Amino acid sequence: MDAFTLIVAAALAALTMAASMGLLYLASARQACLVDWTAAAALFALSNCMGAIGLHQPASPILFIACVNALHIGGHFGMLAGVRRHLHLTPGWRWGAVLMAVVLAAHALMFVRGAPLYRLVLFTPLVGALNLGAAWLLWRQSERDARASYLPLIVLQVLSALQQVARVTVMLAYDGQPPGFLGGDFFRTSGALAMLVYLSLATMCCALMVSHQQTLALRRASLTDVLTGWLNRRALHDVATRDFRRCRRTGAAMYFITFDIDHFKAINDRYGHGVGDAAICHVTALSARVLRGYDALFRVGGEEFAVLVVGEHAGNVCAIAERLREAVVAAPLIVDGKAIPMTVSVGVAALDAHDHKWEEILRRADEALYHAKQNGRNRVSVHGRDIAGRGHLTRLQAVGT
Ligand code: GH3
Ligand code: MG
Ligand code: MG
Repeated sequence: MDAFTLIVAAALAALTMAASMGLLYLASARQACLVDWTAAAALFALSNCMGAIGLHQPASPILFIACVNALHIGGHFGMLAGVRRHLHLTPGWRWGAVLMAVVLAAHALMFVRGAPLYRLVLFTPLVGALNLGAAWLLWRQSERDARASYLPLIVLQVLSALQQVARVTVMLAYDGQPPGFLGGDFFRTSGALAMLVYLSLATMCCALMVSHQQTLALRRASLTDVLTGWLNRRALHDVATRDFRRCRRTGAAMYFITFDIDHFKAINDRYGHGVGDAAICHVTALSARVLRGYDALFRVGGEEFAVLVVGEHAGNVCAIAERLREAVVAAPLIVDGKAIPMTVSVGVAALDAHDHKWEEILRRADEALYHAKQNGRNRVSVHGRDIAGRGHLTRLQAVGT
């Protein structure tokens, strides 16, 4: 294949990438990184179109060559800008414009004007640095869930940088005149072929990253309670099923602490639904402060919550339950400068050797909670004598067994 055909094919691949990224932007949740990648692909397309035209004008003016190179480097910068935006960093297009202007201006230098080899040696490390910069950011900043979907682009960016190094090395080794490759012109054919492959794969890699991020966002939304931002009942099912299996296998302890706001209907009736919502959020925020990072808090109903604790001593779990109760008593909800006192009733239950499902622990915790309600509210009840015996709580009551 000759250099012209390959450059035209690369331009078409760039246009395809621009169209794909643009359409994906319109069809998806409008992720802004797709706009950056559309712009990057447009710059690549322009650079390749001009490159193809330049092939038919052997004595192209230096300004024409400067534009081809500046657009090419702008395209690689756009890839980095999209990666930065995907990772919630500023894309930094201003620096991209500065870089392109510097590349344009550099062509005024005598030795850069003089030979394509000098231009290659000067600009290739720049492209390699942009490629590796994007790969490094993706590797360092990605969340664990998303990293698998970032890997293809990381690999592609590293391969692109290596390919740049390899081309410069060959050019330098043969003093600018390496043996023929795909039609004889190594400099142009190898560059166009690499660009063609890069753009085709980049389209797939970027689309994969974006669609995976959307899947993760949908999954997160399906597991999150809209009002409080905490985990919902569906999440409880997933987490509890996983932890129950693990605890049964390893013999580790597993507990549920359930709690329910006392006389919540009265708050709704007296102050309105909006204040009721604020009360739910207030109790959730207080609970989050009491619980440590690894206790999972779920909103399982209107003003009913469950905490899943794994691998802890019974006494500590009872202490957490009591701290929860005390935290709500100590911090009334303040609305328009007026304090609305609130209390919660709490139930605690532990994994039993006979349990076949995590729902059995939750059911016992609910029974304990009901017991706390029946015995005056604003108290902690524990299901089972064993666990109650190990607690050190003044309001502790054992139920069941
Ligand atoms: P108890 O002490 O026995 O728990 O009495 P209670 O009044 O709290 O009774 P219950 O737990 O049955 O009350 C639940 C109420 O919570 C009924 C429902 O109207 C209200 N509710 C459920 N979800 C929401 C919500 O998202 N926002 C608000 N504001 N109210 C809710
Ligand atoms: Mg209630
Ligand atoms: Mg309730």
